[in-house]
Amino acid sequence: MTLRRLCQSLLLQGAWRTTFLTHSWSRPWGARRWVHSRGGSTYRAVIFDMGGVLIPSPGKVAAEWEARNHIPSGTILKALVAGGDSGPWLTFMRGEITLDNFLQEFGRLCSDMAKTVVPVDAFFSLLTSEQVTKQFPVMTEAIAQIRTRGLQTAVLSNNFRLSSGNSFLPLDRKQFDVVVESCLEGICKPDPRIYKLCLERLGVQPSETIFLDDLGLNLKAAASLGIHTVKVSDPETAIKELEALLGFTLRAVPNTCSVRTRMEIPKDSLEKYLRGLLGTQTTGHLELLQFDHGQSNPTYYIRLADRQLVLRKKPPGKLLPSAHAVEREFRIMKALSSAGVPVPKVLDLCEDSSIIGTPFYLMEYCPGIIYKDPSLPGLEPSHRRAVYTAMNRVLCQIHSVDITAAGLGDYGKQGDYIPRQVQTWIKQYRASETSTVPAMERLIEWLPSHLPREQRSTVVHGDFRLDNLIFHPEKPEVKAVLDWELSTLGDPLADVAYSCLAHYLPSDFPVLRGLRDCDPTQLGIPTAEECFTAYCLHMGTPAVTNWNFYMAFSFFRVAAILQGVYKRALTGQASSASAEQSGRLVEFMANLAWDFAIKEGFRVFKQTPTTKPSSRSFHTQARPRTLPNITGARHYSSFPEPSPTPASLGALVISPEGLPAPVRELYRRLKGFMEQHVYPMEQVLRDHQVSAGRWTPSPLIEGLKEKAKAEGLWNLFLPVETDPEKKYGAGLTNVQYAHLCELMGSSVYAPEIFNCSAPDTGNMEVLVRYGTEEQKARWLVPLLEGRIRSCFAMTEPKVASSDATNIESSIREEDGHYVINGHKWWISGILDPRCQLCVFMGKTDPEAPRHRQQSVVLVPMETPGIKVVRPLTVYGLEDAPGGHGEVLFEDVRVPKENMVLGPGRGFEIAQGRLGPGRIHHCMRLVGFSERALELMKARVQSRVAFGKPLVEQGTLLADIAQSRVEIEQARLLVLKAAHLMDMTGNKAAALDIAMIKMVAPSMACRVIDRAVQAFGAAGLSSDYPLAQFFSWARALRLADGPDEVHQAAVAKMELKSRA
Ligand SMILES: Cc1cc2nc3c(=O)[nH]c(=O)nc-3n(C[C@H](O)[C@H](O)[C@H](O)COP(=O)(O)OP(=O)(O)OC[C@H]3O[C@@H](n4cnc5c(N)ncnc54)[C@H](O)[C@@H]3O)c2cc1C
Repeated sequence: MTLRRLCQSLLLQGAWRTTFLTHSWSRPWGARRWVHSRGGSTYRAVIFDMGGVLIPSPGKVAAEWEARNHIPSGTILKALVAGGDSGPWLTFMRGEITLDNFLQEFGRLCSDMAKTVVPVDAFFSLLTSEQVTKQFPVMTEAIAQIRTRGLQTAVLSNNFRLSSGNSFLPLDRKQFDVVVESCLEGICKPDPRIYKLCLERLGVQPSETIFLDDLGLNLKAAASLGIHTVKVSDPETAIKELEALLGFTLRAVPNTCSVRTRMEIPKDSLEKYLRGLLGTQTTGHLELLQFDHGQSNPTYYIRLADRQLVLRKKPPGKLLPSAHAVEREFRIMKALSSAGVPVPKVLDLCEDSSIIGTPFYLMEYCPGIIYKDPSLPGLEPSHRRAVYTAMNRVLCQIHSVDITAAGLGDYGKQGDYIPRQVQTWIKQYRASETSTVPAMERLIEWLPSHLPREQRSTVVHGDFRLDNLIFHPEKPEVKAVLDWELSTLGDPLADVAYSCLAHYLPSDFPVLRGLRDCDPTQLGIPTAEECFTAYCLHMGTPAVTNWNFYMAFSFFRVAAILQGVYKRALTGQASSASAEQSGRLVEFMANLAWDFAIKEGFRVFKQTPTTKPSSRSFHTQARPRTLPNITGARHYSSFPEPSPTPASLGALVISPEGLPAPVRELYRRLKGFMEQHVYPMEQVLRDHQVSAGRWTPSPLIEGLKEKAKAEGLWNLFLPVETDPEKKYGAGLTNVQYAHLCELMGSSVYAPEIFNCSAPDTGNMEVLVRYGTEEQKARWLVPLLEGRIRSCFAMTEPKVASSDATNIESSIREEDGHYVINGHKWWISGILDPRCQLCVFMGKTDPEAPRHRQQSVVLVPMETPGIKVVRPLTVYGLEDAPGGHGEVLFEDVRVPKENMVLGPGRGFEIAQGRLGPGRIHHCMRLVGFSERALELMKARVQSRVAFGKPLVEQGTLLADIAQSRVEIEQARLLVLKAAHLMDMTGNKAAALDIAMIKMVAPSMACRVIDRAVQAFGAAGLSSDYPLAQFFSWARALRLADGPDEVHQAAVAKMELKSRA
């Protein structure tokens, strides 16, 4: 299959639309179908000029005559316009002078201009001769079609009288309802009166008419009256424009035109051949037309006596061996016809190039309806559904053909169709690549690693879409499936997906009209998912779960094709307009493909079974163990009460190996992703953070986010507790997520890539738990999709913010708004250009009880009055692009609906927000520490000092052992806290949460510090992640509450339990 053939097939809308479109549908299937409307107005008449529109223009005739008679070029034309309204031509047109008088005066004028005798009589004889006054056949055909549709036709011509006194009208008058001639009316175009006269006689309004003329002046006058106009330079083109306005075909054989130059085929030779083939009954003239499209394999309409045929041939010239295989088309159609698939009946394959210059085949012309607009305008919803059902059924028919019985066993390679196709299109794309399209790059990686496992092998059409089907004019039945150029043996689901492309394309999409702007359900059109379901039901195959993959593949394939078109256009093999267009379309298609890759990722992700603990039968309050322990010391832990809950649910899993299988699989994939995509990119990302562009997000991160979505590695953080229906996240327990979080923590860049980073995670949790539906729609959805970022503003420079009751910022109610004033700092993420939401904590009522003074409001970052004073640094690191900002809020007004939960509920919200967030911070710290230890181990084994590897220097062994122990201790404590949260809820786990917040940051500081020491000076540099790890771990001894505050909390609870 060559790229060129595909381009043709896709872009040129199918080659042999051998149909007529009918409007006389019988009931109940076909009510009135045609609506000839444009912008709401309905056309009732078409008015034609004569010379230059229906018959050749006098100007053109004159030019040729002048050339033949050695008259200076342009003489006649100049004389025709000379004198304007009172010149001889227009006077003659108004019938004010006789032909003799005109010829005298006109001859004198021409001779003066040409400075030689101009025999104008001879010119006039030619102009009025039968030879040049033949009506263009395309116009005759069009007029007939217009009248068949019930519209009126008229001629409005600047015309003259012959010497007989009759007007010159070499037309069949019966074609027109009204004829208006200037010489009879005494007025000429562009005088508005003559147009009005014509309209009056037709009995129509200007807006109900279309006027065709070859002169701009005449068209302008018509347009100023409100008449729609078509300029005629070439009759064929004008008819196409008129078709577009009217909305129906003007061809007796739709989608045909006269045979194009360089596409002619020897008629005599063909006729002889046809007579031999068809037998004696074929007498009469051979009519030959060419179908509009199909330069790939030119296609012709033939009428010979009572036979109507279609001829499809290879193009002329040197061809690639596998290209333009009309023989294959013939073979498949013949075989499918015998197998009962509706295809046009093929008659003969002629491989003898001496007949018409190339091999060709013939088939019967198949009349019927082709629906070019997938929204099926004018049909009832039930009819639309019937059309789509018929389409689906015929596809099932194709895919049910017994390949062996049909003799098609060798029609294509069997098996591995999708893997081969993916590779083919990747190769094709690479061969025509002109610039990097990020979505294509992602797909090139994603598609091969998500190939479907099992595939059936059937006949596949390769270009199966609605406008490749001919429907019965009176019932929802497919009469013929066209365009088999891309057919082969392969995975049938590729056809199903391809048949649904239109569902996702806009209606004005240039390559293939789409349905995206419509509501398919309202129209009666099945959704893409319904199409897959119906297909599987009818085929009796299991439901397709990974249809998003097939959609992604289909769009990718189209994008690759378009890239080929673009490249060809750039190298001058196609028009520049199409070049520009196809270039833009590549990206559009690739993004659509990528959307499906993401959907597939989410599908996998959603399949993770919910592991929500089914009952709260565990508690955590500090209390003595029921069994005395050996030392007699007190332990604080959770004790399971007898519970019907299966052991696997809510289990305290201490290593990833113990996770339930689906979560283990997530872990495995996350690990693979980190190794493949994150660690190798860290240096580039670190470099970006100190580059001039550091305050804009790294495109690399954005690309990796997309990849993570498509892998289903997205929003893993939301605990099932918060999101029991898995509406927003993976529905993991805190323990399960803790293991994944540790892995993400092994790189400071990873959490954002998986949309699991602070402060967004905490803010999302606030919105899920406490947000109204409006707040969720506005903020939660874009945050979950990773389209925006957010910040949390609590800390203030003027007060000790470790005690949140000190917060001074005010939130004052005023005219249905809240007015915010305050000075904040260390607001992480506020400098990020993607940051659109600030979750703001301030005081609404300083007089209320201490814990009821605070409130939380959602502040859009674009609200006037927010001023970022400066970015703060952590040990000199800016942490761009999010940074940590010092910010002024000056009379910032937000609507009252932006309050979360209600005034005075700020503490409650802050508390609810913190539980899972602290697990995340702590597990990430464990992740930092594990990675630091890993790096340290590798370093000390490979580096030699004083004659032996560093590892053999005794102190390092102690450091390694100490780090291992501390990491294990901290991890166990964090997992235990997570487990308690799963079992008892965040509030009851407060003690354990405070303990981990005390333990984890300082443990990480010690472990990382040892690693830094083992690295020597390099450990402090930005060549390794250690310096970043350290500064973060150190900062976390303050951020989210200083260690001492957590210590105090633990101590308080400890003392309370003693009481
Ligand atoms: C990197 C980073 C990011 C941050 N991001 C954000 C953010 O996004 N949004 C936000 O609102 N804030 C943020 N913060 C601020 C952080 O939450 C505060 O720094 C923290 O709450 C401490 O408040 P403070 O700095 O005002 O210290 P203070 O309250 O002034 O305390 C100073 C010190 O006093 C001691 N102390 C305080 N209380 C006690 C006690 N009960 N017992 C014994 N000693 C005590 C501690 O040693 C403490 O470090 C961030 C901070 C950092 C470093």
